[in-house]
Order: sequence, then structure tokens, then C-alpha cells
Amino acid sequence: MANSVANSRSNRAAVQATNDDASASKLSCVKKGYMKDDYIHLFVRRPVRRSPIINRGYFARWAAFRKLLYQFLDCEGSNSEKGKTKRQILSLGAGFDTTYFQLQDEGKAPYLYVELDFKEVTSKKASLIESYSQLRNKIGATASISRENGEVLSDHYKLLAVDLRDIQKLDDVISLANMDPSLPTFIIAECVLIYLNPDSSRSIVGWASKTFSTAIFFLYEQIHPDDAFGQQMIRNLESRGCALLGIDATPTLLAKEKLFLDQGWQKAVAWDMLRVYSKFVDANERRRIERLELFDEFEEWHMMQEHYCVAYGINDAMGLYGKFGFEDDEQHASNTSSPASPSP
Ligand code: SAH
Repeated sequence: MANSVANSRSNRAAVQATNDDASASKLSCVKKGYMKDDYIHLFVRRPVRRSPIINRGYFARWAAFRKLLYQFLDCEGSNSEKGKTKRQILSLGAGFDTTYFQLQDEGKAPYLYVELDFKEVTSKKASLIESYSQLRNKIGATASISRENGEVLSDHYKLLAVDLRDIQKLDDVISLANMDPSLPTFIIAECVLIYLNPDSSRSIVGWASKTFSTAIFFLYEQIHPDDAFGQQMIRNLESRGCALLGIDATPTLLAKEKLFLDQGWQKAVAWDMLRVYSKFVDANERRRIERLELFDEFEEWHMMQEHYCVAYGINDAMGLYGKFGFEDDEQHASNTSSPASPSP
């Protein structure tokens, strides 16, 4: 019963369609000059122009993600030779994300980049990678691509089909992808776990903690379901068939941090996007993008940003991440290992 109720509020095709939405929004940002992405247009069939507030929201999400990812890519152990540390990235519900291709261009691609999603999505992505030489050239000549299986297997990039709720399969998938659990690993869950039921999300976060001993788990998703804005946000998504099944289990920053700590992560930090945008995103970048479009929806912007957050868990067996994370003046000290820093 609970399942059938959940299913009517949330269906697979609608949740997959949120990926098309995200891709179209990223392209809208790229066209307006918020960010650079030379690949996303290949994944969008019908370009649309988003409103300034949506563009700014996507920019904030992208800038925060990028900054943390670069920190991860730049962390070196004290006795490792500079530039020699092998690293891997695991993207859960990667959709049409193009980060791998961009990192290749920037000379920053890690040793291994693995993307997982439903087969319907990975098949489309595999087929686009096969069709466009710009993408195909980035994965190497020996890559094998299968549309039927929704798979791309190359030395340094893998795309694989899996239902993330099937925890047993996750172990198979990462061994198929040749991931090495002992390597520093950045796990991405951007607007993904919140669509799953809370048991599944907890299992995934717990599985990742048990599997990767030196790792960052990056989460970006909605919070605060209980106020008027939150209720409206939930209704909007639910009416499209993509209920935020996870939001009541982790409705606050504190709850997001607790999710990580309860599942075995050594440290956890969660900030809402208002704080991330004003305190973590580079001030120069902020100034640059704030000039791109006329913007007068300040009240709406504040509310919207308060309803999204970045949270991350850290496992640091190799002692690489002492300085990793949101650098903030007064909060930094209290953010380490204690559950939840007070939100601003
Ligand atoms: N992370 C990407 C895409 C977000 S859209 C980005 O930020 O741009 C959410 C993605 O999660 C979709 O591609 C959807 O198919 C995938 N997803 C949701 N539930 C999933 C599940 N149970 N198993 C695998 N993928 C899932």
C-alpha cells in the first residue's frame, strides 16, 4: 500500500525527465554566459530560455559543486608526489552531466570517472557519446559503447546502468567499473537521493561510507518542506510525478548532516544555498554573473535558495581532507566531527 501510494506520486519516467530539465537549464545558463560548458548543447533537443532566477540558481549550484570538486582534485597527501595521486569520481544519477568531458579539456580528469543512472538514461547518453565525435574523442579509441546495455566502458570513463535502490548491485557495478575502494573518491548525488524513499537513500549513503575509506560524498538537494514555499515546491514536483520521497526524513541542515554521521561518515557539513552563494561562491564570480541579467526577484531568490542545500560527508583514512570544505571564518572550527553546525 505504502508503495503504491509512493508510486503514484513518483514515477520512473517523470524522475528521469528531471534530467532533461536540468540539462535545458544548464544550457540556458551557458547561453547567457553564467558558465562554460562546451558539451551540454549536445544533450538538449529543445533549448529554452530560463528566467534569471533559475539561471542564477543553477549557477550557484554549479559554482559550489565545482569549487568543492576542485578542492578534492587538488588535495595531495603529504608524501605523495605532486600530480601523481590517483583519484576517482562516482556520479550517482549522473543524468546528462558533462563534468567528465569538461575535466578532460581542463587537464583535470581523474584516473577514473564512473557514472550511474537508470538504463533509459544511460542508453541515451551512450548513444549520444557514440554519435558525437566531440564526446567520443574524449573517452579514447578503445572504448566499447553499447546502446542496448546503456554502457560505455573505457579506460578512464565508465557509464553504467543500475537502479540505485538495488544496493546489492552497487558492489557489482563498482567492481565492473574497476573502482578501487582504497583510492580517494568523490561521490556525487546532485538532485537524486531526494527522489528515493528514505530507506534507499540511507542505504546508499551507508554503503558508500563502508566502501570508500577516503572519500567525499557531495549532496545537493531540497530542504525545508514545512513552510509555504516548501509546500508549494513539493506540490509542483508531485504534480509532475516526481515526489520528493526523501524530504521528510531529512528536512533540515541538521538532518542532512545526521544522515551522513548515522551512516558512518566521519564528518558532515550542510549549508543552505543562500549561505553557500554569499559565503562560498567566489565574490568575483558573483559580481560577474550578477551583471548578466536584469534581476529584481530578491525575495523569491532568498526563499528559493533557503530551500536547497549542499551537504557533504567526509571519510579521511588517508588524512587528505583536513582543509577540505566550505571555508568559513567563524564556523570552520565547530564544523569538524560534531553533528551539525548551527545554521545562520
Ligand atoms: N545529477 C544530474 C541529473 C539530476 S536528475 C544533474 O545534477 O544534472 C536526476 C537523475 O537521477 C535522473 O537522471 C534520474 O534518472 C536519476 N535517478 C533517479 N532515481 C534513480 C535510481 N533509482 N537509479 C538510478 N538513477 C536514478
